[in-house]
Amino acid sequence: MNTELLHDSFDREHLWHPYTSTKDPLPTYKVSHARGAVIMLADGTELIDGMSSWWCVIHGYGHPVLTEAAKRQIDRMSHVMFGGLTHQPAIDLGQLLLSILPESMNHIFYADSGSVATEIAMKMAVQAINDPKRTNFATILGGYHGDTWNAMSVCDPVTGMHGAFGPALPVRFFADAPKCRFGSDWDPADYESMRQLLCEHRDEIAGVILEPVVQGAGGMRFYHPQYLRELRRQCDELGIILIFDEIATGFGRTGKMFACEHAGVEPDIMLLGKCLTGGFMTFAAVAATTEVADRISRSASGVMMHGPTFMGNPLACAVALASTRLLLQSDWSHRIDQIESIMRERLSEASEWSFVTDVRVLGGIGVVELESPVDLGRFQELCVAEGVWIRPFGRNAYIMPPYLAINDEQLHRLCYALLKILKNLYA
Ligand SMILES: *Cc1c(COP(=O)(O)O)cnc(C)c1O
Repeated sequence: MNTELLHDSFDREHLWHPYTSTKDPLPTYKVSHARGAVIMLADGTELIDGMSSWWCVIHGYGHPVLTEAAKRQIDRMSHVMFGGLTHQPAIDLGQLLLSILPESMNHIFYADSGSVATEIAMKMAVQAINDPKRTNFATILGGYHGDTWNAMSVCDPVTGMHGAFGPALPVRFFADAPKCRFGSDWDPADYESMRQLLCEHRDEIAGVILEPVVQGAGGMRFYHPQYLRELRRQCDELGIILIFDEIATGFGRTGKMFACEHAGVEPDIMLLGKCLTGGFMTFAAVAATTEVADRISRSASGVMMHGPTFMGNPLACAVALASTRLLLQSDWSHRIDQIESIMRERLSEASEWSFVTDVRVLGGIGVVELESPVDLGRFQELCVAEGVWIRPFGRNAYIMPPYLAINDEQLHRLCYALLKILKNLYA
């Protein structure tokens, strides 16, 4: 391994990476390019990608259809303001999204990133409720909704960033995380904490926000869809806005196009991000029902109070359109089923190990939960030595491969490498 090529000293001394210190940061590995399910490092090392670059690169890297869509759009215009103007990519994408989103979704707000989409959804809920006493939010423990201020406030207080920002954050209502697992029997007691919370604070709460079925960055947990049916019923009863954050789960990752389909329940507001452009570039969308849109339009301000500079960016819209079409043309559902069964078969071995507390697989997500947090620096080194890219957080070592790019052989190697690395670190 050529260390000079791989680890850049300017990068180490001057560039912040996600959640890192400038003092003695863990080494970063320089990437030269990426194709399909493979990331190429600057020294020629090839890594099979197990992360989809934080869960978004579903078609793999350098997909010619996405590249072509971007090039074609760049030749027309990469950007134009969305205030007072519109364009075909925004219109075509909106139509396509509404055709696959839950039926009640009828209005789309384009946003810059997932965290911003969370902010917008929370603003929408407050505007739609339009009651100065009902401006707060409820959520469940173990969630993740992004890194901006209000998004942080509804993240899990422990795994989220409340430790660093606690007193500066708005105080939200947290119900216990659902305990009934996906695929297990439903226990009505699981919903009690949320039921009580909403009853008690109904006069203060505008909306409930949560990730349907899969809690991602807050702990990689899969819970029982019945929870969402109970929640939908109670939100209807109390007139509370229900927001589903499908930023991580949308576009097939859990085996359904959207995770809420596991429950057969529709939200009032829904968030899309990550896979929206197939991981090509940042972009997000907030979808809402006619009811929500009408209530905002009837509120004191009469308009949805948000309008970022790069709203509806044509380049992002064109790529999102191409990515979503590509997904719909593929046999994604069948392929994710195959990936699920390979991961189930290959990772199950680890459930016998003393240092492993749980192994769970759903759709294109495979998680090995460990007894103690992973030594990330050592893990990264072993990954590069094994020719794979996996980045655990806390006690969760997980893989979320680019499901429309990875082949069976690469997936087997990825699973094999994950188990080998864990044995090396823990056994
Ligand atoms: C990643 C993520 C976000 C934040 O999206 P960014 O684009 O990183 O701002 C919000 N919600 C969920 C569920 C996510 O997984």
